[in-house]
Amino acid sequence: MTIAPTESNVATLIIEGAHLIAGEWVPAVSGDTIEVLNPANQEVLARVPRGTTADVDAAVQAAAAAFPAWRDTDATTRGALILRWAELIEQHENELDRLESQEVGRPHWGTPPMARILRFIAGQADKVSGLSLPTHSPDVLGLTLREPYGVVGSVIPWNAPGPMFVNDAGAAIAAGNTIVIKPAEDAPLTPLALARLAVDAGIPPGVLNVVTGYGPEAGAAIPVHPGIRRMSFTGSPATGAAVMQACATNLVPLHLELGGKSPQVIFGDADLDAAIPAIVAGITLNTGQICAAGSRVVVDRAVHAEVVRRLAEEMARVSVGPWYEPVRMGPLINAKQHSRVLGYVRSGQEEGAELVVGGGVPDGEVFERGFFVQPTLFDRVEPGMRIAQEEIFGPVLSVIPVDGEVDALAVANGTDYGLVASVWTRDVGRAVRMARGLQAGQVAVNAALGSGVIGGPFGGYKRSGFGRTMGADAVLAYTQVKTVSIRGTA
Ligand code: NAD
Repeated sequence: MTIAPTESNVATLIIEGAHLIAGEWVPAVSGDTIEVLNPANQEVLARVPRGTTADVDAAVQAAAAAFPAWRDTDATTRGALILRWAELIEQHENELDRLESQEVGRPHWGTPPMARILRFIAGQADKVSGLSLPTHSPDVLGLTLREPYGVVGSVIPWNAPGPMFVNDAGAAIAAGNTIVIKPAEDAPLTPLALARLAVDAGIPPGVLNVVTGYGPEAGAAIPVHPGIRRMSFTGSPATGAAVMQACATNLVPLHLELGGKSPQVIFGDADLDAAIPAIVAGITLNTGQICAAGSRVVVDRAVHAEVVRRLAEEMARVSVGPWYEPVRMGPLINAKQHSRVLGYVRSGQEEGAELVVGGGVPDGEVFERGFFVQPTLFDRVEPGMRIAQEEIFGPVLSVIPVDGEVDALAVANGTDYGLVASVWTRDVGRAVRMARGLQAGQVAVNAALGSGVIGGPFGGYKRSGFGRTMGADAVLAYTQVKTVSIRGTA
């Protein structure tokens, strides 16, 4: 199927007004819907159910009913169904990419990773194994079994709805759990389309249930539901804390993937030809709405002036526009993000940082109805300023000059976050010291966003969260351990 670049392909990929419960595409129990907007022009792309506690309850019941048979489906078969799902996703990858572009507002950013993520996960399904343990007596066998939790819950954000969806849902069901997952209200369409392909792949009814709706209504109903045995949340720290409190009511274990304020540390010997474009791409990709975005440049004074000049030149080259134009950066996701990002720009100016590039809304008719902002560069940022401490989740880069390695490490580590960090240097000894010293779940040397590693576990230090996804243990993390002792009878 080919569609004109500006045309919506929603109707071919999702069933409007319906979410997935027990293998059926159903409206919300209340009958209410939510409008999903195109952030480039605020046109309505589709309506999805406004799920509430009643929908979550139905989904948990469906997942509980499906659990015993799915748990007992042999792991190779579970893996094969997930591989089939990956194949169907690959067959539809251009349409899925376009759908995600429409709802998130991002230009094309390469082959969508969903099929690749699911293949990696599927390969783990039948490699989950326990141990044989030593025993005090020769007539006893000691074993550990790795078993699924049962019905698990997940709430995901809007910034990369496709990858987030398969990452959580894939790993959960590969381990034999059944899942109730709530996409973000701003970008539920790609998850719904992916769920439709899961049904087509033969994943049985009730194994994967998708409830759409608002966070405080549908999202909040998941962790407090007594049928949920494990919870996973990706989103902002404030909501993460609320989900953690909710999990405490039922003593449910939780995996949290939260925000970041990732440093890009540049030393005087860095290869700036490599560093500058990577850093600008890292803060403008997805309009800076990436948890791992390198939003702070911590630069040695030896190269400070040159780095700022080159960052400014590179940023000025970033073209902005709607997703279907050949641009590098689209709009922000919604009005709230728009005023939040512009509010941080004002705060930076009020606190005395030097605005070098951008700082406003681009001029022109095409930008008037969308949530566009300019790529923005601040220099002479002090480590204590709000723009250096708080996650902006927009294309705003703060340059903080430092003196030498000790100062660089202290500034780089001087926030509540610890998701990703990069260091740019040709000195191997310094690279090793920084890799050990940086407080982050992922450290990249001479690269941004930790690119190039297959199967690298992903997750946070400090207030960026806890637990890891994507690694070789992604499926294992969705299991619990049972110790079994077997005494042979005479
Ligand atoms: P958010 O916390 O507002 O929303 C995330 C999800 O939580 C949405 O589905 C929302 O509907 C839901 N939600 C809202 N209130 C809820 C509640 N009371 N109970 C349960 N669910 C609720 O975050 P956001 O603004 O949509 O996403 C941006 C944030 O996500 C940023 O802070 C970003 O860093 C973080 N993020 C982290 C990662 C990661 O892997 N570490 C990845 C992507 C985004």
